[in-house]
Amino acid sequence: MAASPRPTPVATLAGGVGAARFLRGLTRVVSAREVTALVNTGDDRFFYGVHVSPDLDIVTYTLAGRVDPVRGYGLEGDTFALVEALSAFGHETWFRLGDRDFATCQHRTLCLRLGAGLAEATDEIRRTFGVETRILPMSEDPCPTTVELTGGKRVHFEEYLVRDGAPDDVTAVDLSAARRARPAPGVLDALESAHAIVICPSNPVVSIGPILAVPGVREAMAASGAPIVAISPIVGGAPVKGPADRLLRGIGVEVSARGVAGLYREFIDAFVLDERDAEQSADIEAMDLRVRVVDTLMRDAKAAARVAEAALSLAVEL
Ligand code: GDP
Repeated sequence: MAASPRPTPVATLAGGVGAARFLRGLTRVVSAREVTALVNTGDDRFFYGVHVSPDLDIVTYTLAGRVDPVRGYGLEGDTFALVEALSAFGHETWFRLGDRDFATCQHRTLCLRLGAGLAEATDEIRRTFGVETRILPMSEDPCPTTVELTGGKRVHFEEYLVRDGAPDDVTAVDLSAARRARPAPGVLDALESAHAIVICPSNPVVSIGPILAVPGVREAMAASGAPIVAISPIVGGAPVKGPADRLLRGIGVEVSARGVAGLYREFIDAFVLDERDAEQSADIEAMDLRVRVVDTLMRDAKAAARVAEAALSLAVEL
């Protein structure tokens, strides 16, 4: 059977774990050099004096085959001497940054201090890890995502997720910093020159939401004329992991593939949903979207490649 044509280059909007797993599959289907990951930096924060970029590092470590497979983030086999020693000094150490992971973040911090931008630092890190896929931060400006909780308390997203364990009382998500940020060098070009744009199966509110909020991103996606395909991060009516359910509820969106498709419908052309949610496909088609139903659980790279194949085959048809 002849291989189907591939719409390359592919630009992807990416969060952390869900996106990283998908990208691992995508780079089995098309050349890694034909893929650019535009990554959320709304979760970035300083911890222990270093600039931590959770989503950039999850994507880099996963594509390098070095991610901790159990946690889905951090480096496999890392040690935690640094946070343990800091804890003995009485520091808060709820953010468990591994020692080698700390070195990545320390390197990033030193690069930034020497005048490099976050895009350049990210590129150097991915090359050092031997990753061929281009990885770009959505912006070089600080864009912290904050979450408002019942009672009006506002916290940084990492405090909500990691320190507080993602309680179910989100009333609003504040992306105003991303709305004021400039896109990082290369972001708009990657979108405008793409032949397919894929919204990875990531948290729609706090991973994809901040990227879309950066001025110019939505316009560049439309200007590309490329087919835009999203993959549902909701499987069987619930997130595979993480607090997407709590955040979707917080912004008044149904926790379902249909809810996510509705959130994206204005700017996407097609939607891949999981076979466990197949009964929703007619509702999503009624949104004027092309639909494909597959098993989207990315248990391994082969399964992820099947999801990527489905997304690209939809893009070819458009
Ligand atoms: P985070 O920043 O690490 O939370 O990463 P993302 O935003 O990229 O990923 C979180 C989302 O990925 C969650 O909503 C998950 O449901 C989704 N996700 C993770 N693994 C899978 C999978 O195997 N299949 C699908 N369809 N979604 C997944």
